[in-house]
Amino acid sequence: MHRRTFFQSAAAIPLAKSLGAAGAPGIEARIVRLNLRHTWTTTMSSSEYRDTLHVSYSRDGFTGHGEGAPIVRYKEDAKSAQQAVEQVRSMLLSADPMQFAKVMAEVFRRVNGEWAGKAALDIALMDWVGQRLGIPLYTYFGLDPKDTPLTTFSIGIDTPEITKQKTREAAEYPILKVKVGLATDEPTIEAVRSVTKKPLRVDANEGWKNKEEAVRKINWLERQGVEFIEQPLPAAMIEETRWVRSRVHMPIIADEACQHASDIPKLREAFDGVNVKLDKSGGMLEAYRMLQIAKALGMKTMLGCMISSSVSVTAAAHLSPLVDFADLDGNLLIANDPFHGVRVEKGKLILPNRPGLGLTPVK
Ligand code: MG
Repeated sequence: MHRRTFFQSAAAIPLAKSLGAAGAPGIEARIVRLNLRHTWTTTMSSSEYRDTLHVSYSRDGFTGHGEGAPIVRYKEDAKSAQQAVEQVRSMLLSADPMQFAKVMAEVFRRVNGEWAGKAALDIALMDWVGQRLGIPLYTYFGLDPKDTPLTTFSIGIDTPEITKQKTREAAEYPILKVKVGLATDEPTIEAVRSVTKKPLRVDANEGWKNKEEAVRKINWLERQGVEFIEQPLPAAMIEETRWVRSRVHMPIIADEACQHASDIPKLREAFDGVNVKLDKSGGMLEAYRMLQIAKALGMKTMLGCMISSSVSVTAAAHLSPLVDFADLDGNLLIANDPFHGVRVEKGKLILPNRPGLGLTPVK
């Protein structure tokens, strides 16, 4: 048999019909507009709100909640994420949710791209499974909630005056993450440093366009007490990033260059670690796989997030006992979070100890 025909036929195993009898399943996928506390600027965009896709999966008296923040870089928006859910709705309604790994593999097989839509589905299923089993998701993954790392609080690109004000407002967070990658990098860092001596982490979001500029800026940042740099060069410039890494001391973390588990092996020589996000990986299961692969390759691990509500950020936080670094503040940047979930106390992520994600609606 031809290799291609053999693998195609092997992949087309039908999903079992649901074994559970009681409680007809239901799926709701709706777009929620999250209002930002501050206008948010990075090298990629500037905005006052974000639309994310919220999915709920109900069955047997339990409702699991999921969320995905569409990423423009991957040509996604909230509408296309919603359409992705519609594409697999009937399959999901007839599948057994306790076979969630098989179900999500089938979602990944049927839907091209649309990682935020997949993440919303994966998180809703995992929340449902945790509730059904009566355990928090960190327990499902065998993790200790005391091992959560400190999260950074992010300072978006702005004028020096507003940057100073945002830095003062972040007084309770022990580590800050500062967005750079534009012509204003030096004034931005100087504005932050004029207000605080805290450890800083910096994210260039692919903003520097050549390797010499990256080396120059990273060496300058090192003298400013910056701990590590995220994605200094465009994702495709892996060889150039390797060149930069051999000339600087500061650890370099891949973000835009690292979307899925299969990206990680080729990043090993160019980056010290990877920033995993549920919205770009397609959910908790793929994010867990990515973190384990990165660890197996001796790389540092980080969990990040997009601007999103406590649904998505809490899902990532349940995996955070696994990682070296966390940047899970997307819910802290919005003014109309529909749920309470993970909390932050002096930077430490505090996980709810209720089943599933442990979310409670904001009244
Ligand atoms: Mg980043």
